[in-house]
Amino acid sequence: EEIPKHKESQITKKRIATVSLAGCFGCHMSMLDIDAELLDLIELVSFDKSPLTDFKNFTTRCHLGIIEGGCCNDENIETLRKFRENCDVLVAIGECSIWGGLPTLRNSIPLGECLDEAYLNCLTNEPGNNIVPYDEDLPKILDRVYACNEIVKIDYYIPGCPPDANIIWKSIKNILWGEEYSILYSEFKYD
Ligand code: SF4
Repeated sequence: EEIPKHKESQITKKRIATVSLAGCFGCHMSMLDIDAELLDLIELVSFDKSPLTDFKNFTTRCHLGIIEGGCCNDENIETLRKFRENCDVLVAIGECSIWGGLPTLRNSIPLGECLDEAYLNCLTNEPGNNIVPYDEDLPKILDRVYACNEIVKIDYYIPGCPPDANIIWKSIKNILWGEEYSILYSEFKYD
């Protein structure tokens, strides 16, 4: 029996999950920057766990996971490992996920000094307060910021800060369907 058109496209759609770890969400904003082409994209892919859907957990195994940001706390590491377990292919997008990016500025400073500077020596600290906030339910801050490939195997990298939307989606299509695509020098964007 012939499969009706809409069902056929549902079956062949690729399932994608995305996450923002220790990033600024700029890479996710860039992903949305393809404007009307987003309508074409959702014919090809559907989104699972992602800030774009607000699904907190995976509903199924995914063909591809997109990672923004590196790892600065233990929750980031746990989330990244879940992505590795639940996605066939992992793609790190943006400098933060590839090598840690701007958050690694703290890597040459001991964690204790960073916390003192942020909570005790800052202008907004109440006079007399000498307590760095702590709650066992809060994610534990790591000794330094880690690139994603220091924690799990990453299959592909898309550089930029953020990468241009067209580069992101053309690269993803290339990975998922083997479509030919050459990145032009003019398409790199670092502002
Ligand atoms: Fe933000 Fe740039 Fe890091 Fe992407 S790579 S999360 S845009 S700082």
